Amino acid sequence: MKPSDVLDMAKENGAKLVDIRFMDFPGIWQHFSVPISELDESSFEDGYGFDGSSMRGWQPIHASDMLVIPDPSTAKMDPFFKDPTLVLIGNIADPITREPYSRDPRNIAHKAEAYLKSTGLGDTAFIGPEAEFFIFDDVRFDSSRNGSFYQVDSKEGIWNTGRDEGPNLAYKPRHKEGYFPVPPMDKFQDLRSEMTLILESLGIDIEAQHHEVATAGQAEIDMRFKPLLEMGDQLVWFKYVLKNVAYRSGHTVTFMPKPLFEDNGTGMHTHISIWKDGTPLFAGDKYAGVSQEALWGIGGILKHCKALCAFTNPTTNSYKRLVPGFEAPVNLAYSSRNRSAAIRIPMYSASPKAKRIEFRTPDPSCNGYLAFSAVLMAVLDGIENKIDPGDPLDKDIYGLPPEELAEIPSAPGSLEEALAALKEDSEFLTKGDVFTQDVIDMWIDYKTENEVNPVKLRPHPHEFFLYYDI
Ligand code: GLU
Ligand code: MG
Ligand code: MG
Repeated sequence: MKPSDVLDMAKENGAKLVDIRFMDFPGIWQHFSVPISELDESSFEDGYGFDGSSMRGWQPIHASDMLVIPDPSTAKMDPFFKDPTLVLIGNIADPITREPYSRDPRNIAHKAEAYLKSTGLGDTAFIGPEAEFFIFDDVRFDSSRNGSFYQVDSKEGIWNTGRDEGPNLAYKPRHKEGYFPVPPMDKFQDLRSEMTLILESLGIDIEAQHHEVATAGQAEIDMRFKPLLEMGDQLVWFKYVLKNVAYRSGHTVTFMPKPLFEDNGTGMHTHISIWKDGTPLFAGDKYAGVSQEALWGIGGILKHCKALCAFTNPTTNSYKRLVPGFEAPVNLAYSSRNRSAAIRIPMYSASPKAKRIEFRTPDPSCNGYLAFSAVLMAVLDGIENKIDPGDPLDKDIYGLPPEELAEIPSAPGSLEEALAALKEDSEFLTKGDVFTQDVIDMWIDYKTENEVNPVKLRPHPHEFFLYYDI
């Protein structure tokens, strides 16, 4: 879409306002609106000014002026605002040099795509995330329940983690049986359909929606794969639509990776494939029908996985999900059909076009632009350096004897560990200046100061259960 097409679209839809949006550094969509009269073709060159010092992890106060330059290809009408409003996602630039801003996550995704082209290995990286989430009616905290959160439903009482063994009078899914009986066990069909249809109306193709394994309203809506940057944009729309649909019907949606103790957490398995001139690079005659390049790509992800987690699993809560027993991958291994491995090669289709790597470690608390870019950079590093992924692991990892299990490397145990790994292993990300050294350092500092330390230094509610009477 060109700027003139966007102006036509605004007119056709009777837009009265334009909402300009961009992604901040940690991963929250930001916005401001201007009257439609403030949008003309020059706006796509000149951009709009804002205060970069009020954005987390961006500019210091003495250099706060920043520009957001709308990208005409992102135009959509907002599905929620009362007054017809056109939405444009923008790129951040320095008002003096007009250079793209190095800490703008969308700029990093741009650079990752450009880096792929510069390697000559491919022209497009397709990304397909399977974002899970929880729909809650209300979340309460009760320290008498071992200091864990549980869900309260205004009509049906406490759901907890579905372990109550009383009569199942409200047709609640039993523990680990949320995947996926029909209603009335499934309470959220209509809400998920509403989310799905709004996403489709925005041009975001959905493949399926369903309840997920965890008892209390865990759900999944799968988007059809798209090129990396476009999927970065779609993931922010996705979260926006889900949260707003839930909120206007008295619920909330959370992408927090592990909201409930002793129940499944929330993952975002991320499928990636690389194409060149319309040909898939990952189809071949090696293990599970993949190419040598795909195996090297897997080698890249496994080699850099601990550092990658700093972007794909970037919250302290992420590591409460990466534990055995809840379908979340802990061990850094690959396999064709094994869901306990960090990397799977899906076998649903024999078509070469469907050959892809499914990286199961990521969760949806990530900033999609950064996470997808980091995964692509690990895959490319694997291919460029012919990194051998070792043998596949076609056994249930959870059932392995301890000696065998000890041989398989595991995901970091905490955000602190992932950040330490990133500090040691970031060269694969800084190639082509995709992630600048400043971005890596800033990410580590931001996460350490604002998330790792505040969580580590606070007495945990469960410590009161354990130690108060000691
Ligand atoms: N919820 C699981 C996770 O945390 C994934 C379940 C599945 O879709 O296989 O990764
Ligand atoms: Mg799932
Ligand atoms: Mg999956």
